[in-house]
Amino acid sequence: MGYLTDAHIKLNEEYGAHNYKPLPVVLERGEGVWVWDVEGRKYIDMLSSYSALNHGHRHPKIMKALFEQAQRLTLTSRAFHNDVLGRFFKKMHDVTGYDKTLPMNTGAEAVETALKIARKWGYYKKGVPKNEGEIIVMENNFHGRTITIITFSTTEQYRDGFGPYTPGFKVVKYGDIKAVEEAVTDRTIAVLAEPIQGEGGIIVPPEGYLKELRRLTKEKNILLIFDEIQTGLGRTGKMFAFEWEDARPDMLILGKALGGGVYPVSVVLTSNEIMDVIKPGDHGSTFGGNPLGTAVAIAAIDVLIEENLPQNALEMGRYFMDQLKKINSPVTKEVRGKGLMIGVQTTIPAKEICLKMKDYGVLAYYAHDYVLRFAPPLIIKKEEIDWAMERIEKVFNEL
Ligand SMILES: *Cc1c(COP(=O)(O)O)cnc(C)c1O
Repeated sequence: MGYLTDAHIKLNEEYGAHNYKPLPVVLERGEGVWVWDVEGRKYIDMLSSYSALNHGHRHPKIMKALFEQAQRLTLTSRAFHNDVLGRFFKKMHDVTGYDKTLPMNTGAEAVETALKIARKWGYYKKGVPKNEGEIIVMENNFHGRTITIITFSTTEQYRDGFGPYTPGFKVVKYGDIKAVEEAVTDRTIAVLAEPIQGEGGIIVPPEGYLKELRRLTKEKNILLIFDEIQTGLGRTGKMFAFEWEDARPDMLILGKALGGGVYPVSVVLTSNEIMDVIKPGDHGSTFGGNPLGTAVAIAAIDVLIEENLPQNALEMGRYFMDQLKKINSPVTKEVRGKGLMIGVQTTIPAKEICLKMKDYGVLAYYAHDYVLRFAPPLIIKKEEIDWAMERIEKVFNEL
């Protein structure tokens, strides 16, 4: 693999917690869809940090916003106002149509925030008896790694050894509106779902499911919360995945690409009526809404719109998926997804394929053991997909 690669990996093994098992490649530089390792080898990035790099590596406009803001003001805490945050809130309103934004940092924090807002709304506005509210969540979900969130994970490894767990969640089958209907009681406050399950293996629910969720929750006065941390901001070929079915949720959670690939920024968006339950002191974060992160996020949103990245994701996604479907290999079973959120169901562990692709200069990763995931930056061009396809085909021919 090379002396430098080995040396870096050894440091990781020896001094870092072993909570990840990365592919044996050590990156030192990135630009656009490309990255280079410490041995000088070039790769195409087909993971985009799980969709946090929708704009590609070091987008010039985002870097400019980062540098300019870094030279002025980076952090104030929310004890004082700063001259970026208000503009960020307005930007989020303009691009999403929601009244209000609550800023956090990581995705998991934003999910926790949405759950807190929902519960408080349930007790103070809907009238559910206090501390008895229920939130319906989906089998095979991924919403992050906090104790409350792993409580309702159905991936055993995510839960094992981390109890006791948080009460108040009901898990139902994903993609099955009847299952949700049957789980609803007079204590139900909210339904939380991903419009397409990402870490769960790029699972696209049956058409009409999101719309049905919207209809059912509206009918029963239950909040619909979509976690679009991965599907949002252009990934599926629309700015937000809920637009595919015109199923605007009561609360929308964003993260990952909102930070433009450089800084963790996440948000919960909702109406005045719902956000109104949160009062000064109820919730917060030292770094949440800081000027450096929000300056980056404003630029990230501007770039998505100016460069029409959702549309590019739609067109390039179609092209890429068509090419992938043409692969005639005994180890592929299905190609699925939307936009540039693509999964290939495999009959052999997808990690083996990832390791081979890496040797040819294509960096991808798996979502569950038998799902190969392709999620390149949304700025990707046809020639770059062709470059990758040539190599992907070679790998499949050799398998
Ligand atoms: C990545 C992800 C999260 C968690 O975000 P972190 O920033 O890793 O905490 C939550 N929900 C979905 C759908 C995700 O893809």
